[in-house]
Amino acid sequence: MDWKIDLSSIKKRKILEGKFELECLELDTGCMPFLEDIKVKIVIARSKEGFAVGGYVRTAIEHPCTRCLTPVRVKINGVIEALYIEKTHEDVEGEFRLENLKNMIYYTSPVVDLSDRIVEAMIVEIPQKILCKPDCKGLCPYCGINLNEHPDHVCDEAKEFSIGNRFVKLAQLKRKLEEG
Ligand SMILES: [Zn+2]
Ligand SMILES: [Zn+2]
Repeated sequence: MDWKIDLSSIKKRKILEGKFELECLELDTGCMPFLEDIKVKIVIARSKEGFAVGGYVRTAIEHPCTRCLTPVRVKINGVIEALYIEKTHEDVEGEFRLENLKNMIYYTSPVVDLSDRIVEAMIVEIPQKILCKPDCKGLCPYCGINLNEHPDHVCDEAKEFSIGNRFVKLAQLKRKLEEG
């Protein structure tokens, strides 16, 4: 389905509904694959100010758990909201940046691509921290073993960091300070 639309062809309102095609969702953590179709519904209504665009995007992506890296299914229920205003005079230049904060988009050509709005609506829905379960124990900091699968893990590689060893080092340091 094509999400490019000629706004000048809309008399009152137009409804667009269908699948959005995208390989993966580009995030800071990488490009995450989709686990479901990306379902989109958009209503465009002509108003005095311009064209009001509203709708939703629904899908699910796979993202590694922030703590243990196990793949997690993340549901996305994104909201699309924007106001398209025709930019006719050069004097709106000054107001442009301020108004852009309120989801206002100025266009010069009436053919606009709504793909960016759909992608934005998905990205803002991704939480900062994605956990496989609220009490995920993460990975052993010494050897990387998954502590959810090995709750009684005692790490061999942690020996040199053991408390006993640390006390020896502290004792040595203390002696050095006293001698010095
Ligand atoms: Zn986890
Ligand atoms: Zn370990």
